[in-house]
Amino acid sequence: MLERTETTDTIKTDVVIIGAGPVGLFAVFELGLLDIRAHLIDILDKVGGQCAELYPEKPIYDIPGIPYITGIGLTDALMEQIKPFSPAFHLGEMVTMVEKIGDPLFRVRTDAGKTFECKTVVIAAGGGSFQPKRPPIAGIEPYEDKSVHYAVRKMDTFRDKRLLIVGGGDSALDWTLNLHPIARRLTLVHRRDEFRGAPDSVNKMRALVDAGSMDLKIGQVTELEGSDGQLTAATIKDKGGALSRVEVDAMLPFFGLTMKLGPVADWGVRLEDNLIPVDTEAFESNIPGLFAIGDINTYPGKLKLILSGFHEAALMSQKAHHYVYPDKRLVFQYTTSSTSLQKKLGVA
Ligand SMILES: Cc1cc2nc3c(=O)[nH]c(=O)nc-3n(C[C@H](O)[C@H](O)[C@H](O)COP(=O)(O)OP(=O)(O)OC[C@H]3O[C@@H](n4cnc5c(N)ncnc54)[C@H](O)[C@@H]3O)c2cc1C
Repeated sequence: MLERTETTDTIKTDVVIIGAGPVGLFAVFELGLLDIRAHLIDILDKVGGQCAELYPEKPIYDIPGIPYITGIGLTDALMEQIKPFSPAFHLGEMVTMVEKIGDPLFRVRTDAGKTFECKTVVIAAGGGSFQPKRPPIAGIEPYEDKSVHYAVRKMDTFRDKRLLIVGGGDSALDWTLNLHPIARRLTLVHRRDEFRGAPDSVNKMRALVDAGSMDLKIGQVTELEGSDGQLTAATIKDKGGALSRVEVDAMLPFFGLTMKLGPVADWGVRLEDNLIPVDTEAFESNIPGLFAIGDINTYPGKLKLILSGFHEAALMSQKAHHYVYPDKRLVFQYTTSSTSLQKKLGVA
């Protein structure tokens, strides 16, 4: 379960990778072979980017040397591959700021209050940040982040509260089951009596409803009541148009995620059609030491394919080495024949 840890100490590292999608993950491997240590940050509370969030079960057929692998299978394989380099993950956090403070030195901040200082930054932010879809309820804005929450940062925030969870997918069901034991009363609202979530979760939720320990309402939230951002009640309209009122302290809508460029636009890096133009030698942006790899970059002939991002990660790492170890000469080596690389991988 995701719980944020706040720290006031600056975390110093060689590289910060923004985005733990397949390309950000593989960058850890290529950087690791060159003794460059990485911290990865992702808004999602899991790794794998689009592969894990948008098509975990779908087969991918064009990963070189792997005839067939699912989105989640590829994510798991990449995690296994980068294990020897022990990257540090900061999940459920959005990078809000990147600024150049030296040559080469960057400061990176997240919305969880963490600050990093690093010699290079790799933006592997894909199509941008995954952000929650806002439900179509008039007047919801003043309650957001006060008593309407699109993510659970700390479960204890909801202890002894009357909760309204809205949605019919895995997030809505998982949080229903996880928060039910600590909530004063929990109501789940979904527009129809069929759920997209895992059957096991649906069965567990229905058992709680049958036992009378939580409520399930089929319909849509149409109106919110409260003041100063604090919800007091919500109105639910069923299919026949009948209205019912539920007293609540907090509402958690889970309507899926959408991709938006997000804060990347504020970092002073040059953009073209919401993408970062890079050179094709090192995939570096207009800011020296700030790289962009994977779906977020653009250059003549760019293909938004995972294999392109992997190639970009390898070439980016060669140039990143120059920033991290300006006095060290980089010798090109194969993993098949270099004992030094094999030692780093823990196989020699
Ligand atoms: C349905 C579908 C099928 C596909 N099939 C294939 C296929 O068969 N073969 C293929 O090669 N490609 C396929 N793709 C494309 C492939 O998924 C992308 O090319 C790949 O995911 C790009 O990887 P990435 O790491 O660059 O970005 P992403 O996978 O998009 O990951 C980027 C990550 O960055 C995070 N992020 C963004 N901004 C911030 C921020 N400010 N702070 C913190 N985190 C941030 C996001 O949350 C996200 O997790 C498919 C895509 C879709 C949608």
